[in-house]
Amino acid sequence: MGEELKQKLFNKKEDGWEKVDDKQKEEIFDVSQKYMNFLNVAKTEREFVKQAKKLADENGYKDIMEYETLKPGDKIYFINREKSMYLAIIGERAIDEGLHIIGSHVDSPRLDLKPNPLYEDTGLAYFKTHYYGGIKKYQWTTIPLSMHGVIVKTNGEKIEINIGEDENDPIFTITDLLPHLAQEQMEKKLKNGIDGEDLNLLIGSIPYNDKKVSEKVKLNILNILNQKYGITEVDLTSSEIELVPSFRARSLGFDSSMVAAYGQDDKVCAYTSLAAMMELDSVKNTAVCILSDKEEIGSMGNTGMESHMFDFFISEILNKLGVNKPNLLDKVFCFSKMLSSDVDAGFDPIYASVSDKHNAGFLGKGISLNKYTGARGKSGASDANAEYVAWVRNVLEKNDIKYQIAELGKVDVGGGGTIAYILANKGADVIDCGVPVLSMHAPYEVTSKYDIYAAYKTYKAFWQE
Ligand code: MN
Ligand code: MN
Repeated sequence: MGEELKQKLFNKKEDGWEKVDDKQKEEIFDVSQKYMNFLNVAKTEREFVKQAKKLADENGYKDIMEYETLKPGDKIYFINREKSMYLAIIGERAIDEGLHIIGSHVDSPRLDLKPNPLYEDTGLAYFKTHYYGGIKKYQWTTIPLSMHGVIVKTNGEKIEINIGEDENDPIFTITDLLPHLAQEQMEKKLKNGIDGEDLNLLIGSIPYNDKKVSEKVKLNILNILNQKYGITEVDLTSSEIELVPSFRARSLGFDSSMVAAYGQDDKVCAYTSLAAMMELDSVKNTAVCILSDKEEIGSMGNTGMESHMFDFFISEILNKLGVNKPNLLDKVFCFSKMLSSDVDAGFDPIYASVSDKHNAGFLGKGISLNKYTGARGKSGASDANAEYVAWVRNVLEKNDIKYQIAELGKVDVGGGGTIAYILANKGADVIDCGVPVLSMHAPYEVTSKYDIYAAYKTYKAFWQE
């Protein structure tokens, strides 16, 4: 009697795997395998956008600039400086009935090279770095790092760098002190254990063969770079080179139920939304997929979500539909719905004290929605309206997708943000909606294959609504 009533009244937060049959499991693992394959060739924002363009081209999408006019069913994209991308399918409904937007980011925490990175000290050559995004610095020492990015010469020639991914490539690393001599370091607070200025990458040790010349190791490195890429030291000042873990994405656990990989924040949501969009043909409301850059450092700059580039893309759609008029862009945003597809902090039983168990996102319990983010009394949060949360719940429930509504950590323990507030400020209804992650922002992050699948299903269902 009581048990029956409980079944009826309680919000059951079951483990998603419990109801998965063999056929479904195969599908879940298949989506994750494709995701892992994609991650291995898309570790940076530029690489992600490049792969996304490839996928879009294969699926009948075209650059919006190739269109004079647009009509329902047209599939378009716009690439912003190789680092962010917007895709859309024009809907059957009038565009002023609003867009259905899913927005993630494709940048991840990492180490960037400084503009003048190269130096030599006691026979060893180094690149100096400046970290990007919120990292625990000690996690980035003594792991294999690969080098990804571009060097642009004054004549416009762009050299793409990708070293450390191929088995035959060398890798790079940042050294740490041996425990025998680390007494003083070990007394320091964890956050001060490794100094930002000590995140220097070891890149070589063979001196140039000429007794008379100074800085022989640096010279030898520059000679290698010159022979391989035709660059000199000053060319590094116009480069964007990122150091990311060389690890490949792998299945995790005896049961292979999880994914361990670098950059899952937020490429897990970026990939699943992109994959879902590739499977759509016609949609009622115009479907928009945002792959943004610079989220990890506050969404600033012309490739970040705070820029007007997205407004430009939507205005271009309005122009090419032949419907644009004053204030229509504002109207379109005011009637739009958005899933801010960014990852959630997964509940970690080892560090249970930072979370409220009743309001945390758990691995394996489905897509995780954050009604609000922010910190210290929801400060800085875009708090989704109850009406909109109910609308999203309805989409999830009728499509039989498992979801959990959570918040990031205990009250006053910390906090975070996403791009949600930016679109909310334009007038759209927005809720954060993504995959729970363990070890977020670490060189190797963990997600559940069940949740990855749930994300993919969620994004597809949202656009099909
Ligand atoms: Mn994120
Ligand atoms: Mn992040």
